Amino acid sequence: MWLPNIIIIGRGLKDKVAEVALTASNGQPVLIVTGKTAYSIYGRTVSEAIGERIDIEVHQVGADFSQELKIIHTILSKKRFGAVVGIGGGKVIDISKASAHKAGVRFVSVPTVASHDGIASPMASVMDSSQLYSIMVSMPFAIVADIDTIEKAPHRYVASGCGDLVAKYTAVRDWKLSHKITGEYFGDYAASLAYMSAEIIFKNAKKIGRREQDSIRTVVEALISAGVAMGIAGSSRPCSGSEHLISHALSRLMEEPPLHGERCGVSTIFAAFAQKAAWKKVKSALSSVGAPSNLSELGVDEQTFVKAVVMAPDIRPDRYTILHKLRLTESDVRQMLRDAELN
Ligand SMILES: [Zn+2]
Repeated sequence: MWLPNIIIIGRGLKDKVAEVALTASNGQPVLIVTGKTAYSIYGRTVSEAIGERIDIEVHQVGADFSQELKIIHTILSKKRFGAVVGIGGGKVIDISKASAHKAGVRFVSVPTVASHDGIASPMASVMDSSQLYSIMVSMPFAIVADIDTIEKAPHRYVASGCGDLVAKYTAVRDWKLSHKITGEYFGDYAASLAYMSAEIIFKNAKKIGRREQDSIRTVVEALISAGVAMGIAGSSRPCSGSEHLISHALSRLMEEPPLHGERCGVSTIFAAFAQKAAWKKVKSALSSVGAPSNLSELGVDEQTFVKAVVMAPDIRPDRYTILHKLRLTESDVRQMLRDAELN
């Protein structure tokens, strides 16, 4: 099991981030990786707080993400850093987490949005010259989630985070199915933890949609729990099943795909329908939180979604899911889209 050493969720945590960075780096210099917006809303003040205590270098990622792994790797190889602190959204966290892992340096995750479970997981989606792929990396040494900052981000990001969380509903079912059919290891504890993070969204969907007090914090806690579930399982299995395969296929088929969690949410409705599970419950939770709950709200046309479902099992032939079992044809998918009220 890989677990984070420190998890802090709260408000006004700028000084806490500095303290944690100091602990993580053992007194050695800290590399701060951040994005343009994240730097202006949070990164600058945090960098100053860390800079008062220790040597820092700040790297702002550029628009071309495919080059960032190389660029950050070069920075990390020039000087001895004790920790990398990633401050920003999903992409910044992923790229800085992967870079820290490659250099064997501790990673501190400081998310400024709650859009997916990568904020606390041992997985990273990275882009090389051709496409996006997911790799296993080290668990973040620490996660510091400042709700004051995360709440300021547009609601779309929190709604997307909910999409990535309801996905655990079908992911756990796929894992169980694979255990039954292929004999794959099934970890009850990790599965329950992941499943619970979907359940908490079903239970609080209306509150999240209305952005009631502490509802954003609930989403952040659930995302971190999902990440920890992956750390316990030693893979993304508890959190990623057929719905994630469809989502990955969509990102390959589209030039400007919707957010990861938005794709996963709508794909979860489809996967739940395929599994004969409670797809209406998923759909109504997504619509209550204000996330896309059909193809037109997602901004994906029927033909692209149909293609994505058909190609999904081949994206990871080794990860058995309901889609590997059913091997749907294009016309099956079209019929199911109608029956699941997705178009
Ligand atoms: Zn995900």
